[in-house]
Amino acid sequence: MAGAAEKHYRARIVDRRDFSKDLCVLRVDPGGPFEYRAGQYATLGLEHDGVRIERAYSIASSPYEDVLEFFVELVPHGDLTPALFQLNAGDTVLCRKIAKGRFLLDLRSGRTNHLLISTVTGVAPFVSYVRTVYRDWKSRGNPMPGENRFFCLQGASYSFEFGYREELERYASDAPWFKYIPTVSRPRENVEWTGETGRADDLLRKYAEVWGLRPDTTTAYLCGHPKMIEKSRGILERAGWKKDAVLEEAFFQVASKQAGGAA
Ligand SMILES: Cc1cc2nc3c(=O)[nH]c(=O)nc-3n(C[C@H](O)[C@H](O)[C@H](O)COP(=O)(O)OP(=O)(O)OC[C@H]3O[C@@H](n4cnc5c(N)ncnc54)[C@H](O)[C@@H]3O)c2cc1C
Repeated sequence: MAGAAEKHYRARIVDRRDFSKDLCVLRVDPGGPFEYRAGQYATLGLEHDGVRIERAYSIASSPYEDVLEFFVELVPHGDLTPALFQLNAGDTVLCRKIAKGRFLLDLRSGRTNHLLISTVTGVAPFVSYVRTVYRDWKSRGNPMPGENRFFCLQGASYSFEFGYREELERYASDAPWFKYIPTVSRPRENVEWTGETGRADDLLRKYAEVWGLRPDTTTAYLCGHPKMIEKSRGILERAGWKKDAVLEEAFFQVASKQAGGAA
């Protein structure tokens, strides 16, 4: 297809980790220089019979790493993900050479608390933030995290959907500047689960209070399911958060028949 070679790398999948039949982490060697900032997304695609289909995927890896990492959910009747889920290590995908997105850490406003709220794969940019800050924190002489504190609330229907839970819990047990609460919305179907229950947006008010987060000192970041984003935005606005203190990254738009289901 004209233009594909200039704009895209043929990126190679180096590793694939499955959490369920519709949720996996792909680690991808972009195959050339790929610059990005924590919070940005890459555009991945596949070509079939001369038709190219591309979609945005938030990057979960840190810019310090050589490979790109993505946390991907299968959308059964989607145009790209059913084909993407057929791929394994060694296979290639198209990857636009330029990262995009403005869902970056707000380090300019003076608000030093960062409240990160996600559903399932929406945790990806937060993993990138925290991995990056954790690495900075461990390397001497880096100004991060400084006064910055990160508070992550991740919702899912089932506990196996958290993907990065172990890694995030490890950071939380080591770093005084990071807190992490995973919560499942279907506890009756998760009998082993002993953690928080309810949707992420249902717990937002509670944890804002527990963590002592105030609108004037906290930027909120909402990522993933558009319904969670809408509800969380409403809760935050009613609690005094101004528009510029709430950053959003919606992964898709809700078709009217699926309007119910944010974890
Ligand atoms: C900035 C940005 C970052 C993104 N990051 C990620 C990411 O890190 N991981 C990830 O898995 N996806 C991410 N997405 C979503 C991704 O771009 C695709 O939309 C998704 O993978 C579905 O692609 P598809 O071609 O298979 O389905 P499509 O053909 O695009 O969609 C088919 C239908 O399903 C709906 N739909 C799309 N995604 C979902 C979903 N997750 N749940 C329910 N319905 C859905 C669409 O609205 C559409 O009605 C991101 C989207 C954006 C805009």
